Amino acid sequence: MTTKNGKLNDGRTIYFDGRKIEDLSSEITFSKTLEVIQRYYKLRENDPSVSFTDDNGKSISKLFIKPRTSEDLIEKRQVYEKIARESCGMLGRTPDFMDAGLAVLSEYASVLGSDSRRDYFENAKNWSKMVAAEDLFVSHAIQNPQVDRSKGLQELLAEGNEFAGVWIKEEREDGVVLRGSKQVNTLAPFADQLLVFNLPGLSAVDDKFALAFWLPLNVESLKVVCRKSTLRTGDLRDHPLANSFDELDAFLIFDDVFVPNENLLVCGNVEKSNAFFEESGLFVHTAHQDEVRGAVKLEFVTAIAVGLAEKLGLTEFLRVQEMLGSLTVNLELIRAAVVASEVTGHMEGTIYTPNMQTLLAVRSSLTKYYDEALAAIAEFSSGSAVGIPDFKQFENADIADILKSSLTSSLVSAEERALLLNLAWDVTSEAFGQRQRTYELLHGGNPMFIKIGHWRSEDLSAGNEMITKVLEDAKKAKN
Ligand SMILES: Cc1cc2nc3c(=O)[nH]c(=O)nc-3n(C[C@H](O)[C@H](O)[C@H](O)COP(=O)(O)OP(=O)(O)OC[C@H]3O[C@@H](n4cnc5c(N)ncnc54)[C@H](O)[C@@H]3O)c2cc1C
Repeated sequence: MTTKNGKLNDGRTIYFDGRKIEDLSSEITFSKTLEVIQRYYKLRENDPSVSFTDDNGKSISKLFIKPRTSEDLIEKRQVYEKIARESCGMLGRTPDFMDAGLAVLSEYASVLGSDSRRDYFENAKNWSKMVAAEDLFVSHAIQNPQVDRSKGLQELLAEGNEFAGVWIKEEREDGVVLRGSKQVNTLAPFADQLLVFNLPGLSAVDDKFALAFWLPLNVESLKVVCRKSTLRTGDLRDHPLANSFDELDAFLIFDDVFVPNENLLVCGNVEKSNAFFEESGLFVHTAHQDEVRGAVKLEFVTAIAVGLAEKLGLTEFLRVQEMLGSLTVNLELIRAAVVASEVTGHMEGTIYTPNMQTLLAVRSSLTKYYDEALAAIAEFSSGSAVGIPDFKQFENADIADILKSSLTSSLVSAEERALLLNLAWDVTSEAFGQRQRTYELLHGGNPMFIKIGHWRSEDLSAGNEMITKVLEDAKKAKN
């Protein structure tokens, strides 16, 4: 329960800023981000609408509701929205992301089956129950470092690359020893546990890589190597976002990590590894959380664009009006599609499941809509934003009065104007904002493949029926 209690010094191995970090709480990048993640646990304490009482009278987070109806999904969405608003959608992989999938894992997990040594179905049920009971923060790692796209994982291993993916180095009676790496794991340094698995695409010879498993973060020989920080310390007024929400990403190294049998969900079975993401229910249910969070972030950047246009006196220009209308149309379409995904869902066994085609349409469109909002913010704010001094100058006796009188307009005071422009600068021009943009573009998978998959799965039967009828009528008319 490290994340909830804020005690990250539990023996986990974290590398950051050229060092191995001994005391995570003394690092501002860690303490700031941890505080934002913990807002979820504060909501649990202070907001009764985030919890429910289970059959044993225990208070459980609504994130772990197993949806049986569209109303259940709507209730879960309202919790996702509350959590996302705590970071204006800037933290993407908060506890609710994986919880959305783990809530339903036990109902799908019979597909994981068992073999002569391990009962994967039982492992999945026990684990998801533990996560819900203790309200743990689980982070996930999927993607392998793509060092040579022309070669398979086993081929790379045979050539001596031991870190192209995570593989079984040794099989023991009580578990497996794993070696390898995973390319990116957002918020890994802060999590209680990790879920590690593969995307589909392993071939029959890659059976050593065919794995899905969970681990506590402080397991021996797991090395978490963080990317460079985008945090801007100093006066919060200068960087209201970049000084608040650096969602650290990390590279994971498995330097001979022991994973006990009871933590394994797939082991050595390529078919089950390839099917894991979709058949475990994780893909669709985490997508629901992800698109709700994306909609909240779009709400935020749309409001920044509109606020800028109003406060900078741009709303009389027709071109600006059209741009703003375009942004609010985008936002409304996304909001509507999230609701549509809930009300046009279907039962999968015992679980009510959102409409994945609709969620993927949201995912695909959000990458463009987010960019469109950023482009508008950059255009409205650019000249004004680059001329904003650091905030302390508004208190510098030499120049404060001149700054205040020259930057105050009939629409906004100099300080309010500077704050709004600093928000715009952080989200468009800081390293922080650029990482956020990259996140929106790629975190949910390669946008090209999302579109290709969407087209292949789309039900066009109604359209095809109309074509058939029109052509039949045309043929009849010729005769
Ligand atoms: C900020 C951020 C956070 C992330 N967090 C996590 C996380 O917490 N956990 C996790 O598991 N993953 C995470 N991811 C990884 C994410 O799952 C991958 O980034 C995503 O799946 C895309 O893979 P990629 O980045 O390797 O890009 P690629 O798939 O390599 O794409 C790069 C470019 O190459 C093109 N391309 C690639 N393959 C082909 C092809 N066959 N044909 C034609 N063009 C191609 C693409 O169109 C694209 O333009 C994160 C990613 C980002 C950016």
